[in-house]
Amino acid sequence: MEPIILKRSDHNVSRKNISSAAIKVLYHLKDEGYTAYLAGGGVRDLILNRNPKDFDVATDATPEQLRKIFRNCRLVGRRFRLAHILFRGEIIETSTFRAPVPEDPDDTVHCDNTLRVGESGMVMRDNIFGTPEEDALRRDFTINALFYNIADFSVIDFAGGLKDLENKTIRVIGEPDKRFAEDPVRMIRAARFAGTLGFDIEKEAYESICRNKDLLAHAAPSRMYEEVQKLFFCGHAKDVFQWLEKTDLLHPMFHDFSHWIDEDKARHDWVIQTLEQMDRWREAGLRIHPALLFALIFGEYHEYLIDQLIQDGQMPQDAARNAVQGHLRGMCENVRVPKTVIYQVSDIMDNQRRFERTQGRRPQRFIQSRGFLDAFLYFKFSAKAHSRNGELLEFWTEMRKNTPQKTSSRKGRGPRKPKNNPEMPID
Ligand code: ATP
Ligand code: MG
Repeated sequence: MEPIILKRSDHNVSRKNISSAAIKVLYHLKDEGYTAYLAGGGVRDLILNRNPKDFDVATDATPEQLRKIFRNCRLVGRRFRLAHILFRGEIIETSTFRAPVPEDPDDTVHCDNTLRVGESGMVMRDNIFGTPEEDALRRDFTINALFYNIADFSVIDFAGGLKDLENKTIRVIGEPDKRFAEDPVRMIRAARFAGTLGFDIEKEAYESICRNKDLLAHAAPSRMYEEVQKLFFCGHAKDVFQWLEKTDLLHPMFHDFSHWIDEDKARHDWVIQTLEQMDRWREAGLRIHPALLFALIFGEYHEYLIDQLIQDGQMPQDAARNAVQGHLRGMCENVRVPKTVIYQVSDIMDNQRRFERTQGRRPQRFIQSRGFLDAFLYFKFSAKAHSRNGELLEFWTEMRKNTPQKTSSRKGRGPRKPKNNPEMPID
């Protein structure tokens, strides 16, 4: 198929808005005689006048050739070998044009490696080089398949992405049922792009997601974890969540939690409030770490589980850990939450009991302990969300102001926790 090619005067993609590292990679490839395109989300975002998160390059140079021409290059990837070209503070992911998954696994014409398709039609390995057109068409959505050609500054569109950008549409390249079966994570990505960009999911793709949502059970749990973080840290967590609900992807992703939400609107409201808070933090340029993310989103559910265990006769000091760890470990079948994150979330919840103890030296000791800041952020958030514990909140806020922070040497104390901003505003 002939692509649509927009020449420089007909589009808004400017080298000014591309990182200097990506520009260096593109020009170096071109000077060495290779085809060099900026590809994927970077081109999409530039056309939309958004700030791209990262820049990816696609080229006809093979990984071995890339290694020869870039000294600062590292080959990575088991599933598909690609090059990370390292600059100070930035990595430019550079991959050789890739062919789509062949209909018949034996039909691997330009194959330099083997390919397996699993029982559910999922691609297990796809290290097959292809043409620029093939590379565009094996991508997930039309808006993610645009190229910017450094040789003449044109934008190349093999999949109809320019029209879909104009119409604000997330459209799958090819047959949605087949593309989602190949890689079920694409369904979550559709919800993320729809939420982040304020686009609609095209009807066929939308219906296909609703039909195929249970395929998510086949997705690799570690990839799910990466995508889940992107969903909630993208700055549009609330909109993305509403797409996950609308498409019903939430059930296969967070099975028990989503059923629990369905039972009561107030539970749903907590989650929405949390996501709105995340988005405000993001807007203000503040970041929280994954344990706080999970502690907050699942907070109300965890509190419910803890109460249940206490009613069943467990001691409060055991209930928080058992409830949180039981839930998050169970979730790991689908979304592999790392162990350290599970422990941190259970610390945050377990520490909530300590806010009730305001007598003697205990408050100072708590404030100077390692888990205080995360626990306090959760406490503040839940106090404000439920308009409860106002006096306690005042007590701890004052106490914290008046308690000197320990500057500890951290010798032999296990891994350092990711830092959150101690003064994260809650509004
Ligand atoms: P973001 O702004 O979140 O980085 P992105 O579109 O750049 O969005 P990436 O995950 O960085 O997304 O992937 C880069 C590009 O690789 C995508 O734009 C798309 O073309 C392609 N891609 C990524 N994941 C898939 C997938 N699961 N299936 C097909 N193509 C994909
Ligand atoms: Mg990207």
